Amino acid sequence: MKQHTFGSEYGFQTRAVHTGNDIDLDTGAIKRPITMANSYALPYDPTDMNWSSAEGNLYTRNGGSNQKYLQEKIASLEGGEDCIVLASGVAALSGLFFALLQQGDHVIFSSVTYIAVYRLLNELLNNKFGVETTIVDTSDPQNVRKAIRPNTKLIHIETPGNPTLSISDIHAIAEIAHENGALLSVDNTFASPFNQRPIELGADFSIESLTKYINGHGDAMGGSITGPKNYLDMIRAQSQVNLGATISPFNAWLIMRGSVTLPLRMRQHNENALAVAKWLEAQDCVSFVAYPGLESNKGHEIAKKQMNPGFGGVMSFGLKADHDTHNQFVSHLKVITSAVSLGHDESLIVFLGENDERQYLYPDEFSNGFFRFSVGIEDAEDIIADLQQALKKTGLL
Ligand SMILES: *Cc1c(COP(=O)(O)O)cnc(C)c1O
Repeated sequence: MKQHTFGSEYGFQTRAVHTGNDIDLDTGAIKRPITMANSYALPYDPTDMNWSSAEGNLYTRNGGSNQKYLQEKIASLEGGEDCIVLASGVAALSGLFFALLQQGDHVIFSSVTYIAVYRLLNELLNNKFGVETTIVDTSDPQNVRKAIRPNTKLIHIETPGNPTLSISDIHAIAEIAHENGALLSVDNTFASPFNQRPIELGADFSIESLTKYINGHGDAMGGSITGPKNYLDMIRAQSQVNLGATISPFNAWLIMRGSVTLPLRMRQHNENALAVAKWLEAQDCVSFVAYPGLESNKGHEIAKKQMNPGFGGVMSFGLKADHDTHNQFVSHLKVITSAVSLGHDESLIVFLGENDERQYLYPDEFSNGFFRFSVGIEDAEDIIADLQQALKKTGLL
């Protein structure tokens, strides 16, 4: 008889396949269906119902079946008690910040983060709602310790960080947070729970843009917050029901399906990216390669401690060339696609130029323009050959 739940006694791959799925009782289908309904039948006397409740089936903004199945799986893969899935990674980040923070609270966050985190914490929540914020280089935990204030409520880090791949020590920063009565949230998107599980390393919350590796196929958006049930109940009530960034049942279903192959894809991303990073590093025309899997990388030792079995598929690199030559190089690529996003099956590259407003927060080598490169699961030889022929056509090789 097929069992219904797959706990932590099962391996990561078994849970990626089975958790959250079950036999559909109506039809006997061995895959749960997509429930494309926004409302559920009310009881005989509905007047006592809590219209803002996130429990039970009422209205899809309060919670629907496909999102619940996906939550079950993500919580299991992250090794967390509870999980909420929302419409995008940014919905998860803003939902967490909105529910946890209030006027007068202090937040410390990494100097290298997804741009929306910088906007939310450095421009919106502080200026509009009086949340105090400090940006620190969290690659040195001592910088975090020095920035602590009596009202520090939350430390938010991203490791590897977008776009410099900067590494922060999750365990060390969790200790600093907890010694000082603060919470630690980690944006785990670049690593995915296959390579890194922040909660097991001591963090309170792990955030994912499901849009990236967990869905993996570039065809849906979603985000998740995994953490302790008491906080998740609060986030669900405040941020899901009242901010309304609900994931659609169809997107939750797509991500549920994509996530089945997360372990297989991640192994290939890890292997391909390491090969590509080593190849790039050996080229004279390449000014730098930032990838935590390279021994030359500043964060390599910490990355080895907290990322296992690999370092993910994303890297940044620069060319010893002027602005337009970078664009010319991209125009010659045939396998690799020029587009934002990352963690897709296909390789994606984006030229980030030299005018990022946060350039002052990045290491010097990033100041002449650079690429963020998300290495896909194509054959590594084809990815390398594509880079090589484009460098030749550009006159750099
Ligand atoms: C893409 C990304 C996000 C935002 O996710 P969306 O699904 O695009 O909203 C957050 N953090 C990191 C590190 C990302 O790469």
